[in-house]
This record gives sequence, structure tokens and C-alpha cells, in this order.
Amino acid sequence: MSEATDTARTRTTARTTAKTGTTARTGTTARTTAPAGTGPGTGPVERYDAVVVGAGAAGLSAALVLGRARRRVAVVDAGEPRNAPAAQLHGYLSRDGVPPSALLAIGREEVARYGVDLIDARVEHIEAAEAAAPAEPAPPAAAPAAPGFTVCLAGGPVLHARRVIVATGLRDGLPELPGLVEGWGRDVLHCPYCHGWEVRDRPLGVLGTHPMAVDQALLLRQWSADVVLIAHTLALAEGDRERLAARGVRVVEGRIVRLVSDDGRLCGVELADGRVVPREAVFVAPQPVPRDTLLFGLGCARDDNGWVATDRTGRTSLSGVWAVGNVADPRAQVVTAAGAGAAAAIALDHDLAQEEVGRALDTLRARRGRASGAAVPA
Ligand SMILES: Cc1cc2nc3c(=O)[nH]c(=O)nc-3n(C[C@H](O)[C@H](O)[C@H](O)COP(=O)(O)OP(=O)(O)OC[C@H]3O[C@@H](n4cnc5c(N)ncnc54)[C@H](O)[C@@H]3O)c2cc1C
Repeated sequence: MSEATDTARTRTTARTTAKTGTTARTGTTARTTAPAGTGPGTGPVERYDAVVVGAGAAGLSAALVLGRARRRVAVVDAGEPRNAPAAQLHGYLSRDGVPPSALLAIGREEVARYGVDLIDARVEHIEAAEAAAPAEPAPPAAAPAAPGFTVCLAGGPVLHARRVIVATGLRDGLPELPGLVEGWGRDVLHCPYCHGWEVRDRPLGVLGTHPMAVDQALLLRQWSADVVLIAHTLALAEGDRERLAARGVRVVEGRIVRLVSDDGRLCGVELADGRVVPREAVFVAPQPVPRDTLLFGLGCARDDNGWVATDRTGRTSLSGVWAVGNVADPRAQVVTAAGAGAAAAIALDHDLAQEEVGRALDTLRARRGRASGAAVPA
């Protein structure tokens, strides 16, 4: 049983955490407030085995596994999932075609069943706690619990977490072209595996705003025979032109000035010389900007690309901190982000269990030592 799990439980469907002042939606077996410490001038602190930051697919999936492992868990979410602009979510087995918000609503309902607290708030920063008291009074000779983390929410509320999972996703840096943001997720797309099927056999464009545009155009031919690469600022090498020609992708030279829509639907790409290339959907390569300030604020190491370094379970270089989903992997789709969250949760639960076994062993040895009158090693 979890160290932070309170013995008393209440049956409720929603509550406001008095201590944090934030709304925490819980399931029908929601727990009462765990033993509280004192926050830095903000009053008592809610104590959790794990705090998950981000309630996208990665964070909710981690919370589901941890809730079912009888851990006391909070998920804090700022409500800005990456795929929100899209009308439908694709490629998630069993949920293909649902609105992205529907998947998250189901996930929230599922984690709430296991008493996970869902807190709608933004985490401002996380600090490694100095020396947190264990959630239950420990016998004098027991080894101290790992200090854990102080999770500070916007507006002042503070949570204590023995372990942290950061699943904050990424932001898509889009090229600055008039009309582009308006169509983002609708007919301005980036991933053919997410939305290629929906625009199959249509006149498609690829905007040459990024070196990835050539590969994107070559790939897109799989979905449509009418693919045009609009060169824009891209300097195409002769080899690129040859590969594009071989694959049946036309190249249109010219600088893009705006995307043209008619009645809310994309109809073309206007060039600086006044030409309009008729297109029903265009693909761009956004710049992925990981929301990783919490991780680097804690001191987690970076990999060679500057992203947070993790092992296969999402464990970072800092003991007790995991990073999963798009914050650690720009290639993660919804289903793989969910898988990464589950893998991290299992690793985290093992880590907690090992700590608990160590403490229990120390307690047992201390008791035996006292009973036999032997000196207890310091
Ligand atoms: C337009 C578009 C369409 C897409 N369509 C598909 C598709 O059809 N199929 C597919 O598989 N993939 C799709 N994707 C990719 C998909 O969005 C990601 O794979 C997925 O969102 C990654 O999940 P995640 O949990 O890592 O991050 P997210 O879903 O982005 O969730 C992160 C959450 O963390 C929260 N957060 C961030 N910082 C904080 C903080 N400091 N405190 C509290 N909360 C915080 C955010 O508000 C957000 O709710 C699409 C992407 C885009 C841009």
C-alpha cells in the first residue's frame, strides 16, 4: 500500500482541495487529504507518491497505471494539449476518428476511478525538496524517505511529490505566413500519418519553409498523385530535384506571401509574383519546441540535440524525475506517448517499492536489534 495513501477515504465526485485552493476532480473512491506538511509560507501541503505534470495521453496513461498500483497521484494540467486544433484524432487503435478532447475526457474519467486527483492548474516550477518528512511517522531508526519534490502551482499552491513525471508536451513553432495559423490542424497539416488519409487524392502542397520539406513531399506522394513543392526559401539541390521528379512531385519556384482561403477552407497559396497555386491542403514542418523548463529548472541533463536525456522508461538524469511524451520525444504520436507514460509509471512504481523495502528493512533490523539488546548501528 502506498506510503502517502490515507487510510480514510470518502466517496465523492468532485472536490476543491482546500489546501491548494485548486479544483481537483476525483472519482467515486477519492481519497481524503493525505497527511500534510507545511508549505513555504503557503500553508499545508498535499502529499503524493507521484505528481504528473500534464494530462495529455502521456500523463494520463502514467496516472492510470499508478492509480491502479494504489499510489496516491495528482495530475496537474494547464489544458493546452498539442492536437487540440484538430477535429479528429487518428491512428489510435480503438479510438480512430474521435475528437482529441474525447480521448482525454475518457482518460480523465478512467484515472478518476482510481482516486487520482485531477488539478486544473499550471505548474510554475519544481524544486527538489530539502528533507521532506515521510508521510507516515517513521520509527526512530528507520532510514529517511528520499526527500522528494516540491511542485509549485501558479498562484501559490504547493504539492509534495515523492516522484515526478513531466509530460508537458511541446509547442509547434509555425512559419510566419498570413493565413497559416488559421488553418492549422484543419487544412494546414504536418503529419501524413495523422491526417494524410483525410486529404488523400486531393491537390496537396508542401511549403518549402524547412529542409524537411523535400522528404515530406516525397512521402506525401503515397497519399496523392497531385503533390506540389512550393520552393519558397528552400534552396533545392540538383539531387533533390531529381528525386522529386522521379517520384512525380512538381516543384513551383516562388516566394509564398499568404495562404488563401474561401469560406473557411484553404483554396490556394499566393506567391510574391501574384500567382496563386490552387491547393486544398498544405503540409509544413513546424519547429518542435519542448515545454521543458520544469525539467531544466530541476537540473536534468540534455542529450546531444539539447532535448532532455532519458532512458527507455523516460527516467531522466535526476533521480525521481521522469519525462515522457512529446516533451522528451518530438516523434511521439498519441498512442506512443500513452505507451511511454505507462512504461514510466511502471518504472516509477518499482523505484518507490525499492525505497519502501529499504526503509522497512531498516525498521525490521532496528526492532530486532532493540529486542536482542544489541547496539543499533548508526
Ligand atoms: C494539429 C495536430 C494534430 C495531431 N493529430 C494527431 C493524430 O491524429 N494522431 C496522433 O497520434 N497524433 C497527433 N498529433 C500529435 C499529438 O498531438 C501528440 O502526439 C500528443 O499530443 C503527445 O501527447 P503528450 O501527452 O506528450 O502532450 P500533450 O497532448 O501536448 O499534453 C501535454 C499537456 O501538458 C500540459 N502542460 C504543459 N505545461 C504545463 C505546466 N507547466 N503545468 C501544467 N500542465 C502543463 C499542457 O497544457 C497539455 O495539456 C497531432 C498534433 C498536432 C499539432
